[in-house]
Amino acid sequence: MTTTDSEALASLCHFAQLASGADLVMAVEVESNGRAAWTASSPALPVAGFNLARSGLFEAPWSGHAVEASAFRLPTAIVHALGGPARQLLFVPTPTRDAPLSGVLLLWRSPQPAGSMTAQVPLLAKGVARLLSARRESAREVIVQNQFIDLVESVPAGIVLIDGDGMGSVINEHAASLLGCAPGRLRAADLLSPMRALRERCDNHAELEQAYAAQVGNVNFAAKINWTLGERTFEVDTHPVRGNGEYGRIWLFTDVTADLLMAAELRRLASSDPLTGVPNRRHFEERSAQIIAAREASGRTVAVLMVDVDHFKKINDTHGHPVGDQVLKVVAKRCREALRERDLFARFGGEEFIALLAAPAIDEVPATAERLRSAIASAPINVDGVRIDVTVSVGGALGEALPGGDQSLLEGLTARADEALYRAKAEGRNRVSMAS
Ligand code: GH3
Ligand code: MG
Ligand code: MG
Repeated sequence: MTTTDSEALASLCHFAQLASGADLVMAVEVESNGRAAWTASSPALPVAGFNLARSGLFEAPWSGHAVEASAFRLPTAIVHALGGPARQLLFVPTPTRDAPLSGVLLLWRSPQPAGSMTAQVPLLAKGVARLLSARRESAREVIVQNQFIDLVESVPAGIVLIDGDGMGSVINEHAASLLGCAPGRLRAADLLSPMRALRERCDNHAELEQAYAAQVGNVNFAAKINWTLGERTFEVDTHPVRGNGEYGRIWLFTDVTADLLMAAELRRLASSDPLTGVPNRRHFEERSAQIIAAREASGRTVAVLMVDVDHFKKINDTHGHPVGDQVLKVVAKRCREALRERDLFARFGGEEFIALLAAPAIDEVPATAERLRSAIASAPINVDGVRIDVTVSVGGALGEALPGGDQSLLEGLTARADEALYRAKAEGRNRVSMAS
């Protein structure tokens, strides 16, 4: 990882050993509490940590000459490494910001050989200190980088991070599997083609092209757009990441398929009637307001038909409430089938249903009401082998949605259809009555 700095330190130790004739030279990085890390040595030995706090090395005034080793307390790790007790030693302080007690330790097992150049060794101090700092800095960078990679891989999203100079990028595994490339570092230019290929595979490809093409060259571009890939949908968030240059940018791919399905299911549950499965009154009112608003623009006809099961209470009383439920299901199904697809049909409440006919021809309205009536009356409803004769009465009302027209058009139509229904009941049931 920090090979070059460590190798350079080892070379300096080796040089110091040659110059001084020492049996062991080691560069030790020592923090202010005396905790030491053995960073390099000559001869090369396995690196270990030890404590030099009570060694006496830091208190002695070092003039550049070796002294008797017996005055110091060296850790056994050092004695072991040397292969026996030291006879003489020299410590050359090489303080660094993070490890102010660092130094180069020279050890002799026997008296120094004549002609050794111990005095030259302190000249290496600055170089050693610089290398110790550099080594520590790059170790820190590796830690930060590893933390960054852990973070990027732990997020359950695809991440593409483009460097500030716009040249390089980092891609995590999720993004790599989506884009069909290898995770890790990639030239930013090599990203363009897999990103484009992924967009082209999307069902909403045209919409995406339009959204992104307008932003080419805009370094401030930020957007959250859903990319639809068959069954799956990814929310793709892109925005600039500043601080390391103009072109820094992140692309985040989050799989929102489950969220969207859940939201759609909740909407469906909120808008449909659990017994019959047709839309409920709330949905009818919301949706018909939209339909009428659309009609308003063109000023076309709208009609409301109210359908009420005749003597339904009697069906419940005769066959029981659960059979009544089954009858309601069949009534809803037959009515739905008797209408055009674009007509809105809902359970209005109890044994009452409602339809909104959008833009019918005027004579079509009573004809549709009659279709609903006969869809129920034409054949008995079979529940668990019991054939039940069921009829419905239908009341209808027609109106015209005028441009800028009355908001209460639907309420008015419903009230008039209800009056017409009441008339149909009064006139003997199983019939259609239209409001005048
Ligand atoms: P009419 O011909 O005048 O409409 O007579 P009706 O008996 O159909 O009308 P009424 O309003 O007197 O009774 C409606 C009955 O519908 C009363 C209520 O218990 C029943 N009902 C309402 N909702 C349900 C339901 O979800 N399931 C069942 N089985 N019965 C229901
Ligand atoms: Mg009723
Ligand atoms: Mg009824």
